[in-house]
Amino acid sequence: MIYLDHLLKATQGTLGQRSKHTHFQAFNHDTRQLAPDELFVAVRGERGNGHDHLLDAVRKGASGLLVEGLAFQQLSEQTRSALSQEEITIIVVEDTRLALQHYASAILQIWHPTVIAVTGSVGKTSTKEAIANVLSCQFNTFRSWQNYNDTLGIPLSLGRLEARHEYAVIELGCDHPGEIAALCRMLQPQIGVLTNISPVQLQYFSSLEHLAFELSTLLTSLPAGGHFFYNQDDPTIQALLAQYVRDTPSPITCHPFLENIPEGLSAQQLVTAVTWQGVQGSIVRPEAREHATDVEAPEKEGQQYIQLSSQLLGRHHFDTMLAAYQIGLSRGIFPTHVEQALTDLKPLVGRLNPLPGVRQSMLLDDSHNATPASTAAGLQTLSTLAPAGSQRIAILGDMLHLGDYEEEAHRSIGRQVAEHVDYLITRGEWAALIAEEAQLAGMPVERIIMTSTHEDAAQAARRLLSALPTSTTSSSTDLENLNAVILIKGSEETRMERVTELLMARPWEASELLVRQTPGWKKTFFMHAERPTWVEIDLNAIGSNTRHIASLVGPQTSVLVALKADAYGHGALKVARTVLQNGASMLGVATVSEAIPLREAHINAPILVFGYVPRWQMREALRLGVSVTIYSKEEAQALSRAAIALDKVVKVHVKVDTGMGRLGIRYEEREKILELVRTARHLPGLELEGIYTHFAQADAEDQAHVQMQLSRFQEILQALDAEELRPPIVHAANSAATLMLPEARFDMVRPGIAIYGLEPSPSVHLPEGFRPALSFKTQVSQVKWIPAGEGISYGSTYITEKPTCIAVLPVGYADGFRRGPQNWQSVLIHGQEAPILGRVCMDQCMVDVTHIPQTRMGDEVVLIGRQGEMTLSAETVAERLGSFNYEVVSGILARVPRVD
Ligand SMILES: *Cc1c(COP(=O)(O)O)cnc(C)c1O
Repeated sequence: MIYLDHLLKATQGTLGQRSKHTHFQAFNHDTRQLAPDELFVAVRGERGNGHDHLLDAVRKGASGLLVEGLAFQQLSEQTRSALSQEEITIIVVEDTRLALQHYASAILQIWHPTVIAVTGSVGKTSTKEAIANVLSCQFNTFRSWQNYNDTLGIPLSLGRLEARHEYAVIELGCDHPGEIAALCRMLQPQIGVLTNISPVQLQYFSSLEHLAFELSTLLTSLPAGGHFFYNQDDPTIQALLAQYVRDTPSPITCHPFLENIPEGLSAQQLVTAVTWQGVQGSIVRPEAREHATDVEAPEKEGQQYIQLSSQLLGRHHFDTMLAAYQIGLSRGIFPTHVEQALTDLKPLVGRLNPLPGVRQSMLLDDSHNATPASTAAGLQTLSTLAPAGSQRIAILGDMLHLGDYEEEAHRSIGRQVAEHVDYLITRGEWAALIAEEAQLAGMPVERIIMTSTHEDAAQAARRLLSALPTSTTSSSTDLENLNAVILIKGSEETRMERVTELLMARPWEASELLVRQTPGWKKTFFMHAERPTWVEIDLNAIGSNTRHIASLVGPQTSVLVALKADAYGHGALKVARTVLQNGASMLGVATVSEAIPLREAHINAPILVFGYVPRWQMREALRLGVSVTIYSKEEAQALSRAAIALDKVVKVHVKVDTGMGRLGIRYEEREKILELVRTARHLPGLELEGIYTHFAQADAEDQAHVQMQLSRFQEILQALDAEELRPPIVHAANSAATLMLPEARFDMVRPGIAIYGLEPSPSVHLPEGFRPALSFKTQVSQVKWIPAGEGISYGSTYITEKPTCIAVLPVGYADGFRRGPQNWQSVLIHGQEAPILGRVCMDQCMVDVTHIPQTRMGDEVVLIGRQGEMTLSAETVAERLGSFNYEVVSGILARVPRVD
């Protein structure tokens, strides 16, 4: 509860508008999650400015607004008058973030609960919850909300603090140097709790030592007479304490989570059972501690030991329980009450939370976040809990924010996977390193599946499950008859809860049982792009387009996807993984060098190089195991020599030029073609895999030319048949021919453009259901007014006729945003067209936003794709540039990052 007079006094704010509302249920800074009677706080952040949403907040029932004076003055007349009509209280401060912090300090002093601050690398939220649960059995206890743990989140959650609260248990984040000290200044905790120190968020800290130093500021911030609880088994914490004791005459009392552990044992070794019912451990009864000698044999001196148990899954949660236990006892709560409170501890959403899965599987949903330590704990738990005879499946996404430690972290998880898990499914490119290392550590490759999308990861798991026998006698939740246990985990940004949702037996419960289900989260788009101009790829569109093609051509015809030019600018690696999961069986590239990153990423599918392979690159081609296109006997012989030298076999496809006039032996030289086919069959080290041709006009309205090429190709095939020389894979069709000419599909089709959801040509359209995968976006870097009569951009080719509001955009021709002979003409901002003014520069350009007055710095700009109701398609852009869609998408240069 927030009282207006407290707020005004603490923030030195003024009343911008008075109303009957003098108290508020809570603070809220996100209108998408706002509940009635809350106080909306307008904050400026990376993703927008809260002052743009004041009316929205009022519409959703906010009874008060906390705003910044300057921004409030700059509101439009319209907004101000609309607000003045409403029965709401408006509090004006200079800086809303600071105001919240001042409020937090003040309200803690006014109601003075005992503040317990919990921090550490992992397990903060679980520990905070456990402590709060234990204290609640005797005291009115406040806990910080979810994982709102920074200088914005903590004050926001303190809006729910009330006078009756005797304790406030608050989680402190540690994302950047100085944060813990700042939070401690604000909260003045009397009690500190440190769970552990491990590599996490290392992008903000140059080393583990720096992180440890940061976390240690909790200890040094405690007042004289304060208490510090710590995990005695963490060596980094031990080192810290040793130093603290050396450097300072100890004004505070330090308590290990567990005192008097028998020599040589760690608390983890006291765990006696980890089952689906939870974790259990045996500790020395507090009164009897002094006499404890041998914990290995608790039954001998039964009365000296007690079992602590909770419903939390995983051995590592024993530390969580001990922390809560120790604090409970130190606050004078009767031991049996503390024990009872621990028994009631249940897994939090997204933290090793067991959920019934499809096909008699059990999901261990651990999708809230991932670090190396918590992933290791997850794998350990998976392997402990899976009953004999069930399969242990891990679905792992990327672990992010590990600084330089990223590669080794994923590799070390790979080694643990090989040890603990039967099947591994990865999602994402960092996670692919887990797969690579698991394979190196001896995990059979057929038990490893690498994917790029949530859908493909879930689909792969479903395929595994459907291959397992199901018992008909039991329900899916029967723990005895589980087919498989599936651990699902990845960093917050990887949104692995979507995989969980796709595998839940009761997916309609997702909104209650999974993390990040609020409307705000559902919409939140995590951008990892390293600059504010980026290409977004919808891999689900690519997956679905591939399935469309595969079902169109039927099971007799296989699908090769053309991945040249970085998958037409879409990013070859992720596209490759996605199409291979959705029905493609072969990949096509233009050059040997394009195959290298695919092989390095352990994509082992067959790859055909369409283009010229010079002799000096033949050994590389052999090393990569790619199929090579041949069209001369001499080159075939050179390839054979290279194969013999390396003691390998190379697959070849003979290329016939039936009228494209590009690479290949001319169809008129039939004898030469037959000769090459014979040679390819017999040369040592060569395996004749295919023969193909390519159409020049499959995308034309008039099909005469493609028909001519087709019949020429068929003649060649007949000649081959006559001598029984026909290779196993005959192929001809690009996207247009695949769609328009079923006779040209033969054994395999080679679509490119259709996979990306783009039209093969203005006269060959995609059937219903295909969708484009690529969007090209940037953000407004400046908005300003230019007086009439002024020039814009190089050469001042555009002169303003009237005062003009322009937006500067950080995109230019060196990104593929073309300058001439014709440019893009316009882009989309707030769902409207904004015309380009003057010349496009190398890295920037300017657009007219006079008619879009709400445009602000940071707003999204769409160069290709959809915004609101408007679409700017690659085809429209192509028309404006006097080009075609293939060139538009593959012409977006490499310095533009790709995200998905
Ligand atoms: C690029 C290419 C394709 C794919 O063509 P689309 O028109 O994009 O479907 C097929 N075959 C060869 C040899 C290619 O070079």
